[in-house]
Amino acid sequence: MSDVRVRFAPSPTGYLHIGGLRTALFNYLYARHTDGTMILRIEDTDRTRFVEGALENLLKALAWSGVEIDEGVVLDENGQVTEKGEYGPYIQSDRVKAGIYDKYIEKLIDEDKAYYCFCSQERVDAVRDQQKADGLTPKYDGLCRSIPKEEAKQRVANGEEYTVRLKLPHDREISFEDRIKGKITFNTNDMDDQVLIKRDGYPTYHFAVVVDDHLMKITHVVRGDEWISSTPKHVYLYEAFGWEAPEYIHLPTVLNENHKKYSKRNGDGMVEDFIEEGYTAEGLINFLALLGWSPDSEEEIFSMEELARQFDFDRVNKTGAVFDKRKLDWVNGHYVREMSVEDLAKAIKPFMVKAGLISEDYSDEKMNLLASTWQSAIDKFSDAPNLSKNYYIEDSEVDFDEEAKEVLKEEDSRKLVDAFLAKLAEVDELDQEFASTIMKTLQKETGIKGKNLWFPIRAAITGSVHGPDLTSVMLIMGKEKIAKRLNYVKENL
Ligand code: GLU
Repeated sequence: MSDVRVRFAPSPTGYLHIGGLRTALFNYLYARHTDGTMILRIEDTDRTRFVEGALENLLKALAWSGVEIDEGVVLDENGQVTEKGEYGPYIQSDRVKAGIYDKYIEKLIDEDKAYYCFCSQERVDAVRDQQKADGLTPKYDGLCRSIPKEEAKQRVANGEEYTVRLKLPHDREISFEDRIKGKITFNTNDMDDQVLIKRDGYPTYHFAVVVDDHLMKITHVVRGDEWISSTPKHVYLYEAFGWEAPEYIHLPTVLNENHKKYSKRNGDGMVEDFIEEGYTAEGLINFLALLGWSPDSEEEIFSMEELARQFDFDRVNKTGAVFDKRKLDWVNGHYVREMSVEDLAKAIKPFMVKAGLISEDYSDEKMNLLASTWQSAIDKFSDAPNLSKNYYIEDSEVDFDEEAKEVLKEEDSRKLVDAFLAKLAEVDELDQEFASTIMKTLQKETGIKGKNLWFPIRAAITGSVHGPDLTSVMLIMGKEKIAKRLNYVKENL
């Protein structure tokens, strides 16, 4: 094991967003590539955004995806949240309770690198509003910076409400080297005296992230580039503590098809939604890896192992990565094609049941037949009901397409439908023998062949002249359903 230590540090505010999974994945791939350690830490110091059950959902979605956690917050064999590793607790609210942050904030205050602020929220807001009205960048005006430390401590001891703020030096440049974006510089004049400890006594994200990354010996901070403007505050804190900062790697924003930020605020893009739509973990992971990273070849299909072998930050783009759903479908389709028929049948069955097309006790034999019939066309499991619904629904609900309707008007089509029905009446059931010989028989009896034979039969049974292997379709539908369908066609089309 190398000394590379990376972390995924989500705030459990709901479900796992696809952008979050991409961040987790890039951390994980780098950990595997370098034989390092992948850590999961929960950043829940913003109690107002806390959502019950969110942590379990997040860990389940991660486990589904195949992104493994070596250390930190994990699920045990029974699906219960637990922790492993030497640097715990790994949930920040537990770290608050354990008093971990206390001595670090005291140190900053004692060394005049942070100060108590007694301004009310109303005053802070009013200052900002005025600054905005004056066309200035809104930030804290520093009123409490000059309160003598002893006096401030006395006020705290007297029970006055306070926050603790970072005491940024004036007009100083703070730079850091981002592995992807290069050198980034901010001036402290454009930065706020960041709150480090909130009124409720909890540390802010900015304070806790630095203390924890340091104590957990994180070597590389890999996160979305929306955090870039926070990084100089973190860099300054490392300096204030006299600690070495980790390496920073800010990943390109995930964009939607309109090149806007693919945001969780829109309520879409949750990993759970993709699971529900029937994407495979392999497909989603493969697709997400290409969302900002590209290999050194034209290759686009990668297993997790192969990704871990090839992945490095050198091939991560600087600019936004567009989430292209068609590409996701294409990539995922590849993994569907690779499944065994039996596995695919098991995977699509719940989608067929949910769509109301079959019941739970539908036979495995037919399920397998259905899976093999559509395997080449299914990109995600939820495609299965759409592709095959005409085999199951009421005849009157079948949407016969224009081409099918045209074909079915022909005299020969009538003849074929009648001949088919007559043959069907001669057998007890539509078995393999019948399904594989019926077209030959019809050809012999009617003298009609080629597409003049196939199109009408296919159109009458399935509503379209095109489609998969008709033998399988007949076996899936069975005698009764086909007889009904053909009689319906005779009478109505
Ligand atoms: N807790 C932050 C989030 O919700 C993590 C940012 C970071 O990785 O530093 O995304």
